[in-house]
Amino acid sequence: MIKELYFSAVPQKLSCARRLYEQYGTDLLALPGMGDKLHHLEALSQALQGQMACMTMFSLCRACAEKAGGGCCSAYMANETDALLLLLNMLLGVEVTSQRNDSFECCYLGPQGCTLRVKPIFCLNYNCHHILTGNEAAVLKNLETAASAVLVMQTAVEKILLEHILSR
Ligand code: SF4
Ligand code: SF4
Repeated sequence: MIKELYFSAVPQKLSCARRLYEQYGTDLLALPGMGDKLHHLEALSQALQGQMACMTMFSLCRACAEKAGGGCCSAYMANETDALLLLLNMLLGVEVTSQRNDSFECCYLGPQGCTLRVKPIFCLNYNCHHILTGNEAAVLKNLETAASAVLVMQTAVEKILLEHILSR
């Protein structure tokens, strides 16, 4: 199970997440406190999006993606997703589907950017020179704080999901 969740190929991890959602989705959503945790995670994720928006990161990343060599959302990075993270996105109401079938970009990259509400840890590392050189230290600190808060919460919820699934 652990191998399939974390170490299978990208399409297999998506199939695994769909199967787990069908099998356990209702039970997971009914776990004590799960609704509040998901709402909190949603709010933290929106706060991070807001911080990124006020730093014009979306247009920065789009400009990168349009250059030769592309931006950070490469097909290689799609390997950083795992079935548990995809399941968590489904529980947050995201319709998780492959957006493309090429070997260049991450399959979760849609026309408006990343389609996942919560993302792999490496996708939250906003330390490229475009971002570091274009913002004051206090603004970068706000970004780091917002990203860390999402990461801590999503890790905590993923732990609960994993414990539930492995106990069945
Ligand atoms: S995070 Fe930085 S390097 Fe990556 S796509 Fe955005 S601007 Fe470009
Ligand atoms: S941010 Fe989203 S689209 Fe980009 S590599 Fe990560 S998961 Fe894929």
